[in-house]
Amino acid sequence: MPQTKRDYYEVLGVDRGATPEELKRAYRKLAMQYHPDRNGGDTEAEQRFKEVGEAYQVLSDPARRQRYDAYGQAGEGMGSGGAFNFQSAFDLFDMFFGGGGAQRQRTGPRRGSDLRLHVTIDFQEAITGVTRTFEVSKPAACEECQGSGAQPGTAAILCQECQGRGQVQRVRQSLLGQMVTVEPCPRCRGEGQVIDSPCSVCHGQGLIDAKKSIEVQIPAGVDNEMQVRVPGEGAAGPRGGPPGDLFLVITVRAHEHLVRRGMTIVYECPITVSQAALGDTIEVPTVDGPATMTVKPGTQYGEQVRLAGKGAPDPRTGRRGDQVVRLRVVIPTKLTDRQRHLLRELAPPDGKPHPVRRGFFEHIKDAIGI
Ligand SMILES: [Zn+2]
Ligand SMILES: [Zn+2]
Repeated sequence: MPQTKRDYYEVLGVDRGATPEELKRAYRKLAMQYHPDRNGGDTEAEQRFKEVGEAYQVLSDPARRQRYDAYGQAGEGMGSGGAFNFQSAFDLFDMFFGGGGAQRQRTGPRRGSDLRLHVTIDFQEAITGVTRTFEVSKPAACEECQGSGAQPGTAAILCQECQGRGQVQRVRQSLLGQMVTVEPCPRCRGEGQVIDSPCSVCHGQGLIDAKKSIEVQIPAGVDNEMQVRVPGEGAAGPRGGPPGDLFLVITVRAHEHLVRRGMTIVYECPITVSQAALGDTIEVPTVDGPATMTVKPGTQYGEQVRLAGKGAPDPRTGRRGDQVVRLRVVIPTKLTDRQRHLLRELAPPDGKPHPVRRGFFEHIKDAIGI
């Protein structure tokens, strides 16, 4: 599933700390340079045009950029980038430069639409990955007409408007000067043929609603709002066109004790005053089951212990993050006389607190998340 794509920053020729302005400048320059209207059908330029569009679309969106920085391409919706095609690249270009938004569509049967399915999985399932089966209602090829849209015994005929080419030429003005663009034929909507006697079951669409059961392997490491792409399981294309893709939009249920921050899992661990002062060996929950760890003597409130390799996996590489255990000293509220007496013994003779250790405020900041 994960395709190897070039790094988005590399595609735009900027470094990872690039500001929105720098991204914009880089995109403007490269999109102009590789625009297909300037490169006379050079396929490499076309690829580059699409590539810079996709890179800019992701990096110019702060939320998507953050996900990309944390997870790379895999975080980018496990290939929801697959939905970015040439049409998207042109749309983006037109949006960016305020162009007329010419419709560009391939001729011939149209591709079916992409479908989205919201899926909720457990915290643990998101860590280990899970196989799920879904009943999906979606448009499928009509059996009556075999998806052609024409009444059985009849066939589609050549479109007179475009002579079957499916496209017509238009001249338009743009920032780059006069450009000849090719647009889909309005009469046959780019299909090159029209149906005179539509199929009575699907009314000429070639599609009917159907239910299908689909098994999907949700990869280990997915997180909230990520998308898992299932190629070819979207809606069937009208009149024999290729199917779209199915996207699972993931929601992960909260865990009773653990919280996830990207690949890091955080556990807020309560310890007693005596454990903090004297040290102890304790057991903490992890996604791999209970783990033992050491509390150092003299532990301060909010101090953190890192359990290497106990975090969430990167869905692309499988490499796991760490678990961070934040130690929270719980101050007792009910004391026996004896405990009260013992605690008084702990108070310094002059009644003033011990000097605060260096780094104490850093722990507090970490603990309250500022
Ligand atoms: Zn036509
Ligand atoms: Zn039909």
